[in-house]
Amino acid sequence: MFRNDIILDQAQHHDSFYLYDQSVILDHIKALQENFSGIGFLYSIKNNPHPEVLSTVFGAALGADAASLGEVLLSRGHGLSPAQIQYSAPGKSRRDIEEAISLSTLVADSLNEVALINEVAKAKGMIAEIGVRINPNFTFVGEGGIPSKFGIDEDVAFDTIANWDALSNVKVVGIHVHARSQELNPDVLVGYYRKMFALAKKFQAALGHELQFMNMGSGIGIDYETSDTPLDIATLGTDTKAVLSAERQSLPNLAVYIESGRYIAGKSGVYVTKVLDKKVSFGKTFVILANTLNGFIRPSLAKLVTNYAGTQKPAGTEPLFTSKSAFQFIPLVDADETEVVTLVGNLCTGADVVTSDITLPTLRIGDVVVITNAGAYAAVLSPMQFSAQVPPAQLFLTTDGTVLSS
Ligand SMILES: *Cc1c(COP(=O)(O)O)cnc(C)c1O
Repeated sequence: MFRNDIILDQAQHHDSFYLYDQSVILDHIKALQENFSGIGFLYSIKNNPHPEVLSTVFGAALGADAASLGEVLLSRGHGLSPAQIQYSAPGKSRRDIEEAISLSTLVADSLNEVALINEVAKAKGMIAEIGVRINPNFTFVGEGGIPSKFGIDEDVAFDTIANWDALSNVKVVGIHVHARSQELNPDVLVGYYRKMFALAKKFQAALGHELQFMNMGSGIGIDYETSDTPLDIATLGTDTKAVLSAERQSLPNLAVYIESGRYIAGKSGVYVTKVLDKKVSFGKTFVILANTLNGFIRPSLAKLVTNYAGTQKPAGTEPLFTSKSAFQFIPLVDADETEVVTLVGNLCTGADVVTSDITLPTLRIGDVVVITNAGAYAAVLSPMQFSAQVPPAQLFLTTDGTVLSS
């Protein structure tokens, strides 16, 4: 799995750091590309925009799922063309649209945005070929829609589609739906893809011209808890290709995309922290680690959420909260003895509790603790500005064994 020798070596130079493993990223991309021929993949930059990660992903011919103008510019910096960048996010400003309109494929998130894109395109003397994000009349597992801040409700879209045709400077050529993340059951995902193809056909018929692309969003999950069964990506690929070939005739030129962040980067990263101090207070043993809540917030958030939930099992709220034991704590020590400890951080707040009363090999000051599943929604979500601590380094292990720091 991860490289203990490299981790221990780097821990001599950094009290806390992320280590991303390029070979893990490439393996996950390969699994997608080999199992889903005929489908394009877009990398959801927001989960991990580390420059070496982006070079790896875009070097492997993925397109970009950009959630902001900044991510559009990052993608451009890596040489992607407007057709390879889909910019989909709620609440784009006029400036966002003005800047991104010729750099990316805009996906309008509301009726207001369709009109705004038309205005901007008109002022620039161009016709913008865009997608629209739809809030569908279905979920992963059921029929019927749910209120959402994302996209245009399916019924509203079909009611207004004729008006879009009248817009002089916008041509709608694609649809985008992203219902949710972190699904491990291939049957659920394939069922959702089937509904997406039905939606695309209905949409194309209502548009009156050919739909050029359908972006089915993400959903492909990874195993976080040690008890999770990893998603069977081969089965998902085979079943998805069967859906695609059955639908090809009615949508001959449709480019089909799936977006992914966590499946590509999630398993590639570990977070490494060090024991700074240790004390016993009223009989409880505290191990004080470097940069926990501020360097990698999610284990502390998981602890907070499950504390408040009491005996209930709280639902996941991606990307902030996945489940109670989504991150494993692995001390890299030789100790034969174990002890019950509470892991906390070095901030001047009592809120940075990572986990309490767990049995671990006996830890001493200077020992290294690895936290798993730190490749996606990890560094980017963590409040590193808090308290002027030295932020964790972000290191990148290349396939030839070189460690790059940025
Ligand atoms: C965040 C996001 C994704 C990525 O989700 P993952 O679970 O990381 O694959 C994909 N599409 C949209 C629209 C998103 O907002």
